[in-house]
Amino acid sequence: MKLSEMRELLARHDIQLTKSLGQNFLHDAHQLQRIVASAQLTKADKVLEIGPGLGPLTELLLAQAGQVLAIEMDRRLVEILVDRFGLETKEGKPDCSTSGANETEAPSDSTHPNNLYLVHDDALAYLKQESHDWHDWKLVANLPYSVASPILVELAAGTRAPKMIVATLQLEVAQRLMAPTDDEHYGILTLLVQLDFAPHGWFKIPADCFFPAPNVDSACVCLERRATPLLNEDQRVRFHRIVKKAFSQRRKMMLKLLKQDWPKEKLETAFAALNISLQERAEKLSLEQFVALTKWLHS
Ligand code: SAM
Repeated sequence: MKLSEMRELLARHDIQLTKSLGQNFLHDAHQLQRIVASAQLTKADKVLEIGPGLGPLTELLLAQAGQVLAIEMDRRLVEILVDRFGLETKEGKPDCSTSGANETEAPSDSTHPNNLYLVHDDALAYLKQESHDWHDWKLVANLPYSVASPILVELAAGTRAPKMIVATLQLEVAQRLMAPTDDEHYGILTLLVQLDFAPHGWFKIPADCFFPAPNVDSACVCLERRATPLLNEDQRVRFHRIVKKAFSQRRKMMLKLLKQDWPKEKLETAFAALNISLQERAEKLSLEQFVALTKWLHS
């Protein structure tokens, strides 16, 4: 979708973009292709797209995946998408057991493949609904930056997380997702997502690839769900508590912070058994060490 087409569509529908909804549309064909290539799609794939906007990514996803479920919050854009993709309201649901939201589906006699479901909803509220199972899905999205982190934590931390995440977001959030131990960006978001997802590379996207150009840098990240979970459900709850407490004051020694919630003796025994210095700060501890500490404190 060219920039001139985007401008024309927005003008024709008299749409002023809403900054708070992160409406920066990606018009650069090369970057769109790179994003889709990162997802390694086949016709067997089901793709969740959050924030399709005017649909530049959606049309590429439809060409390569078996099914696309797109969730858009802005009614004006939903109306444009319904028109662009020849959609109609349907009772049918994609097989992630959705419920409640306002859905449309491509009619089988349209020129578009019958594999697009469009949901008009706030994606975060939609994802929090109990009934979704994304286990067989891939998330491929140019996310609204204001809600990118909560959306990723919501998706990644669930027991029914997607098998792959390819997401375009603010560079600073991408760096936090990809950060190695002891990096300045390493922290709560890194650990909550990397517990279930291994980072598989990222690339920057220049601001002038978007319309309008955002005033922050952007990047696309690729994460793959770990084949074997590192922790069970109960341990995962404890992992979240430990990580949040350990990073609650970044410059403080972890032991001092954790002592607020766990007995000192138990912590000291665990630190000794795991060869962690009693003076260590959270940013020096690897994901594996946080996982081991969680198991110790859980036992
Ligand atoms: N995918 C399009 C593209 O690449 O050009 C648009 C991406 S734009 C960065 C983000 C989109 O997310 C906008 O269309 C915006 O209306 C939508 N959006 C913002 N907040 C949302 C939310 N909470 N749930 C669903 N969509 C949202």
